[in-house]
Amino acid sequence: MKKVPLHIQILLALILGAAFGAFFSINKNKLEITYKKNSNQVVESIKNWNSGYLIANDSTIAKFSSNDQIAIINKFKHLYSNSRESIKLTFETEKGKFEYTDVVAVKKEHTLATYIKPVGDLFIRLLSFLAIPLVISTLIVGAASLTDFKKLGRIGIKTFSLYLLTTTIAITIGLGLANIISPGTRIDPQSKERLMSSFQEESAEKAVETLDISIVDFFVEIVPKNPFDAISNGNMLQIVFLAVIFGITLTLIEKSKRETVLKFFDGVSDTMIKMVDLFMLIAPYGVFALIAATIADFGFEILTTLIWYIVAVILGLFVQTYVVYGSLLKFLGKASLKDFFLNIRNAQAIGFSTSSSAATLPITLDCVENKMNTNKEIAGFVLPLGATINMDGTALYQGVAAVFIAQVYGFDLTVVEQMTIVLTAVLASVGTAPVPGVGIIMLVMILNAINIPAQGIALILGVDRILDMLRTITNVTGDAAVAVTVANTEKNFTIE
Ligand code: ASP
Repeated sequence: MKKVPLHIQILLALILGAAFGAFFSINKNKLEITYKKNSNQVVESIKNWNSGYLIANDSTIAKFSSNDQIAIINKFKHLYSNSRESIKLTFETEKGKFEYTDVVAVKKEHTLATYIKPVGDLFIRLLSFLAIPLVISTLIVGAASLTDFKKLGRIGIKTFSLYLLTTTIAITIGLGLANIISPGTRIDPQSKERLMSSFQEESAEKAVETLDISIVDFFVEIVPKNPFDAISNGNMLQIVFLAVIFGITLTLIEKSKRETVLKFFDGVSDTMIKMVDLFMLIAPYGVFALIAATIADFGFEILTTLIWYIVAVILGLFVQTYVVYGSLLKFLGKASLKDFFLNIRNAQAIGFSTSSSAATLPITLDCVENKMNTNKEIAGFVLPLGATINMDGTALYQGVAAVFIAQVYGFDLTVVEQMTIVLTAVLASVGTAPVPGVGIIMLVMILNAINIPAQGIALILGVDRILDMLRTITNVTGDAAVAVTVANTEKNFTIE
């Protein structure tokens, strides 16, 4: 029997995983309560409550209605652990009243779809495991192969300019669509209240994470004090700095020594790429598990509430991925669009399922170098850099989200404020770590810059996961499009 090609297997895994997740979806009116009873922990489920109360010292501190599952979990999770003991959780159901004291945890139920999630987590861990050595080795080899400074300078400038250009276009598209579609004025006040109360605590937590970001520090901190610290903390920007500077300096030392070091890193890079092939054997299973768990856990009701916001983001991502990159590849890169979009599918599917440009990097490299036959040294330089600093999908989404939140709060953004969004979003997209869910944290920085309450992210947290998956497709495709374009404009490029 002929073997089914990997991209078909992954596509099938995506579709089947989604169906499986939808079938074994989590009941949104059910909670699992763990509480202490005679010094034992007991787990009990509670379903279909009409109302719920969080009571502390005989006074109600929060009241919930039947579809407040997330609000209940979040409220409880963010209680100080020492105050949990004095808390009472009460539910009123058709069958009577249920009361819990000494509650340890309040969680959603598990279903078959969430039980298999570890397979997906394993897949992401395997990919993330090889991301750092791969970035270091390919970037060192990439930078060092561009031996002549003029060439390196030219390729560097082209790469940075294209990354900057595509990111600026992305935010502009995001802002444009958000202004035209005006999703924030289409949300009804009740939905706003519900979203704010469900995600209040989580948004406050995320807002705190970015409090101490300053632009000057941001640039200063790109230089690691200790390269091994940078590697062990997985600080991608610092790792990129380390690898590029190492690669460039390598070209300045004696040829025989340089070749030894280069051979070593080239070998490491090849080994990592071979490892990708091995890990990809479980890709269909990993993708299936990841999608199944996400769909099972996803609250689809929220989609209708935020439908215009989602439409604006998806439309923008589509235009960026196919129109902007399509034009870039066609007019500047003189590349075949059919070849590009057919060969990039694996990277897109893995980007979508893992929500991480870094985890996807090995696959992007494989698609661009092997399937599209792009110059290895150029791709090795442009792609790891792009996975770290170029996040067009994230920037676009941040543009839409900032305007959306401003609209909901009734702020009219001036041209200067919209320009501020463009500037901060370019910076934020450079600083966004290529891992799931960081885009929304950087959004807080943008909101602070235009004086919009950062708690506003509570409005969009519920759909962030699904949009994160989609924007990662654009992030990954953008890196590949720039790599192919730069390589094609350097056709005469040869290595000494
Ligand atoms: N998940 C995105 C990426 O890795 C970053 C983000 O937007 O959160 O590309």
